[in-house]
Amino acid sequence: MAQTTIERERHTEERSAYAIAIRQLEAAAHYLNLDRSLLEVLKHPRRELIVNFPVKMDDGSIRVFTGYRVHHNPARGPAKGGIRYHPEVTLDETRALAMWMTWKCAVVNIPYSGAKGGVVCDPKRLSVHELENLTRRYITEISMLIGPESDIPAPDVGTNPQVMAWIMDTYSMHKGYTVPAVVTGKPIAIGGSEGRLEATGRGVMVMAHEALRQLGRTLEGATVAIQGFGNVGSATAKLMHQAGAKVVAISDVRGGIYNPNGLNIPALLHCAGRDGCIQAYRDAELITNEELLELPCDVLVPAALHGVITGHNAERIQARIIVEAANGPVTPDADEILDDRGILVVPDILANAGGVVVSYFEWVQDLQAFFWEEEEVNLKLEKAMRRSYHHVAQTAEQNKVNMRMGAYIIGVNRVAEATTIRGIYP
Ligand code: GLU
Repeated sequence: MAQTTIERERHTEERSAYAIAIRQLEAAAHYLNLDRSLLEVLKHPRRELIVNFPVKMDDGSIRVFTGYRVHHNPARGPAKGGIRYHPEVTLDETRALAMWMTWKCAVVNIPYSGAKGGVVCDPKRLSVHELENLTRRYITEISMLIGPESDIPAPDVGTNPQVMAWIMDTYSMHKGYTVPAVVTGKPIAIGGSEGRLEATGRGVMVMAHEALRQLGRTLEGATVAIQGFGNVGSATAKLMHQAGAKVVAISDVRGGIYNPNGLNIPALLHCAGRDGCIQAYRDAELITNEELLELPCDVLVPAALHGVITGHNAERIQARIIVEAANGPVTPDADEILDDRGILVVPDILANAGGVVVSYFEWVQDLQAFFWEEEEVNLKLEKAMRRSYHHVAQTAEQNKVNMRMGAYIIGVNRVAEATTIRGIYP
């Protein structure tokens, strides 16, 4: 059979995130005994938009940036997924992230299909003004895709509520009226949801709690190491600390700190987001990001980028449980090793779904123009996460597979079912 362009690219790229996503899908398809032609449909993103666009910089020069927006399988609802600003954004990575969003929304049973977007840039090296120009122009370039009924962006690595506000404003200016439901993760003042900022971290905390419970332990007193101190890492640290866990290590792109007696999380949260915050902390040993992953602890939370636990270091991981707050932090090679070693991995498409669950709540509130209190949001989130955890754990047990495969079986099955029931047009 002739290969599609995507298949050719996938075979030539080393460490391709999309190749990993395909490997995971194929394994799930095997368990589900999925029809081959249906598998072919699910393997391919439905549409991919590449945009190259000029941005006026502060010094008067003009720079051309490249951005992407990918929709995976549209069967279960409008496309949903974050926008990433990072120097290493690629089409391959965006494809993988879009596919993971599809399974994630299906696992927690919210009516969306997966999408992802990104711009190749280093937001830390752009002024606020340049970041705003870049965002407004990127959104204009992908405006044929986005809309409250078609594709709803959200924050991801390198973007934040302010960027979401510019997205909402740009889209609204084009329409001529205000459309809050076009994007989620917005500031509360313009239709954001209570609880959205901490939602991914809250979900991660609930997952750690459930995983520990499964092993006859509690979060109270459990030791936790967190890689990443961005939105997700810092919220996870805060909520874990509040729940009585002992956060012993944390890191950012520059490196990390470790104190087996626990870190002063409230003090660290004070300077979160500022360069050098972690490194200036006194009462701990400086460690590298690689060392953090290999520390003795009960719960390891990779909350940065994909591909950090691989066949090379999986043998040295000492955590009892890994909760994947990032998308794709553990590679399939590492999965096999961790399985053999009895380390429980709560997979990304379940573990970090709290963000998109509250994004869904935000979208519903915007569409109804009726807003909920934080308590209600958090309660509904925790309920959805717990229910999904137990569904995944049960499915894993019934099929004698790990939690990742349990989650894939549920997610892929729901999308396959929707695709089949809708039929092929025309
Ligand atoms: N970027 C987040 C994720 O990977 C959130 C997506 C959303 O809220 O739509 O799940």
